[in-house]
Amino acid sequence: MKRKVFIFIGPPGSGKGSLSNLCVDKLGWVQVSTGNLCRKHIMEQTAIGKEIDFALKSGKLVSDDLIIAMVEDWISEQIEKHDALILDGFPRTVVQAKALDQLVKDKFTSIDLQVVKFSVADQTVIDRLGSRYTCQNKDCQRVYSLAVGANLAPQRGMICDDCSSPLSRRKDDEAEAIKERLITYHKHAKDLLDFYTETGRSIQEFNVERPLQELFQDFKSVIGADCGSK
Ligand code: AMP
Repeated sequence: MKRKVFIFIGPPGSGKGSLSNLCVDKLGWVQVSTGNLCRKHIMEQTAIGKEIDFALKSGKLVSDDLIIAMVEDWISEQIEKHDALILDGFPRTVVQAKALDQLVKDKFTSIDLQVVKFSVADQTVIDRLGSRYTCQNKDCQRVYSLAVGANLAPQRGMICDDCSSPLSRRKDDEAEAIKERLITYHKHAKDLLDFYTETGRSIQEFNVERPLQELFQDFKSVIGADCGSK
């Protein structure tokens, strides 16, 4: 049976994580954020964590080899258990995209890759990340927004609704790091999207400057209802 694997491509703060959470909760899918995997390594102070700490703090990318190995392990664990998987923040470079294609060809032959692009203005991203708070629990890392009208505020003060851990600002959500992350995103996203166009994959593009529920409805109708709606 073919397993759909959705590649979410969008700048930081474009809502990849928020849409992923809805897909997980409402559709029974599973999601991995390579950013969360990296932060978990750092919080657990693993050898990998020590190696990538500086890159994350400054908004630069981690080496392709490390990230590809993390994602390969994650897909191996999940592929037989779920109808649909979401890769949030991977691939970020053409090297990673080529490595994923190779894995699909050689190892994960049941995968049907679907590319999803999140379209949003840089200023919206800057505004969103300025009011973003993240759960400090490495196994949770749920994201909240204190922006008026975002409907993503925590329910019980500055603690996580799910696990009651304190919320804090991510170091790389500070203004300087946001600028660096946007530059990095734009530098790689064009090449990545060109790669997928050249290799004949269709790209589903969504305007994400709208309420999350509306985006979710649109997303479901575009990708079809055949992915196990709960
Ligand atoms: P994110 O949470 O997706 O914004 O990612 C946070 C940080 O994790 C990035 O700024 C990078 O330092 C690192 N990272 C996450 N995913 C990747 C990736 N696919 N390739 C390289 N670095 C990554």
